[in-house]
Amino acid sequence: MEQFQHYIDGAFSDGEGRFPSIDPATGAPWAEMPEAREADVDRAVEAAHKALYEGAWAKTTATQRGKLLYRLADLVAANAQKLAELETRDTGKIIRETSAQIAYVADYYRYYAGIADKIEGSYLPIDKPDMDVWLRREPVGVVAMVVPWNSQLFLSAVKIGPALAAGCTMVVKASEDGPAPLLEFARLIDEAGFPAGVVNILTGFGSSCGAALARHPKVAHIAFTGGPETARHIVRNSAENLASTSLELGGKSPFIVYADADLESAANAQVAGIFAATGQSCVAGSRLLVERSIKDQFVGLLKAKAEAIRIGGPLDMATEVGPLATSRQRDHVTALVERSVAAGARLVTGGKALSGDGFYYLPTIIDCDGVASPSLAEEFFGPVLSVVSFEDEAEAVRIANDTPFGLASGVFTQNLTRAHRMIKSIRAGVVWVNTYRAVSPIAPFGGYGLSGHGREGGMAAALDFTRTKTVWLRTSDDPIPDPFVIR
Ligand code: NAD
Repeated sequence: MEQFQHYIDGAFSDGEGRFPSIDPATGAPWAEMPEAREADVDRAVEAAHKALYEGAWAKTTATQRGKLLYRLADLVAANAQKLAELETRDTGKIIRETSAQIAYVADYYRYYAGIADKIEGSYLPIDKPDMDVWLRREPVGVVAMVVPWNSQLFLSAVKIGPALAAGCTMVVKASEDGPAPLLEFARLIDEAGFPAGVVNILTGFGSSCGAALARHPKVAHIAFTGGPETARHIVRNSAENLASTSLELGGKSPFIVYADADLESAANAQVAGIFAATGQSCVAGSRLLVERSIKDQFVGLLKAKAEAIRIGGPLDMATEVGPLATSRQRDHVTALVERSVAAGARLVTGGKALSGDGFYYLPTIIDCDGVASPSLAEEFFGPVLSVVSFEDEAEAVRIANDTPFGLASGVFTQNLTRAHRMIKSIRAGVVWVNTYRAVSPIAPFGGYGLSGHGREGGMAAALDFTRTKTVWLRTSDDPIPDPFVIR
């Protein structure tokens, strides 16, 4: 079996424990991963703390940080195929997507390379004579980054890139489900030449490794992507070190189709929104809201597309839907579909796991019109679409916002004024109009409500990894007057 190691303080090392990683396409172990517990976590945070305040990183200029990030971007691009194969092997995410996504991850590092020397302080027009006052932007401190399994190189790039640009040091916890690509990525950090301790990468289980990281006294900020329940644990633990948090959580995103939409284009976008990545996408457009007059026609179109999807081995370039990442995930999807059908939802297509090896589940559509189906409220993180119809715009908006989540949304219409009204009315961090699942390093991304807070992407993400220091400098040589009066 292949063996992986942690990357702590600029060196590769074994963990306090080891655990097997399962190939989701076969259900069999294929590699052994190091397991970090409290002592490894402590070693990594101490290394990051030392690098930030005592090591070479403290003397590295913003321009040099940018150059290191450019080098990292080039290394990611050069190694994209290898990293993609590892991610596919370890998580079951199809190679068609991982190879494209990881090539694009290089552009995220390139974008933040360019930002490193553009994080500026400011000079304040202060209301006092003989006083110069300015703001310095300094790195927020040691950042703990905790990511889920579904797109680890992408979800870590949107944290590591801006945090490095801002001058932070960090400990990145790869998910225990499929950590291979991030552990391999550590080699590129090493090769790029970042000083020891700047980026530490380890893996382990949530309750031991993740919790120890979140409550470590030397962690200043926690950047988390994952489920809302885990986020609550993290926030509770952050009470120990009073660390700030940014949370990218789940969703139950509405995908709204009006009768005047280009239905072929909308159907393709809906397929991308719910069946791409086997539905294991935080922005999955998992609730289809379709105008009643075209419901049968549109659902028929989708059914035909869903049934034509090529299901297969994730390493095959022809495969369109691969396995779910874990047996736990397959069982969760199976149980939620069963509960929804028991509540009255009607299966349009799919609705079962494939027998045989691997954690495969059929692309599934369920008609939930008039039914209080749990599938409309709970996140599947799998290839299951719940359909409801609406009569008019007011009803579409009401259903779209009838969720505690607010990550993404899609609106398909040719009516320009209606599109603008919908953009304003939907409570979500992203609105895609006549498109879906588009991302860019330049565009901020994040949620409303239970989908979290904080934004990743764009300049704002880099500023989120800084804090300001206010400097007061008195320019008068006269003695300070009356010390008993604040001035
Ligand atoms: P998860 O919340 O179970 O795990 C995420 C990470 O948190 C893992 O590394 C895990 O080990 C760690 N963790 C678990 N318990 C912890 C604890 N007590 N303290 C610290 N860390 C702990 O999520 P998952 O099942 O791996 O991923 C799926 C979830 O992630 C879905 O809800 C999905 O919507 C969400 N997600 C969100 C985004 C986004 O950008 N908004 C992107 C991808 C996935």
